[in-house]
Amino acid sequence: MAKGSALRAEGNITLRTTCVHCGKSIPAETGYGVLERETWGLVGYKDGKKTVFPTCTECYEAGWRPPEFVWN
Ligand SMILES: [Zn+2]
Repeated sequence: MAKGSALRAEGNITLRTTCVHCGKSIPAETGYGVLERETWGLVGYKDGKKTVFPTCTECYEAGWRPPEFVWN
């Protein structure tokens, strides 16, 4: 019997993704009322398709935007 391992895994897993600009690992969640937002799901176009570009706060604040960035 693995004591508590299943429970611990459930509670601790945070989905992570990668900033499309600098490659930094960032949380995949983009909201849920968190105080410090680490991830920006910027919407732009890639190969003609509307795409969400996960972007870290540093790149966002540095002014990076995806191609054909959509303000929303
Ligand atoms: Zn970045």
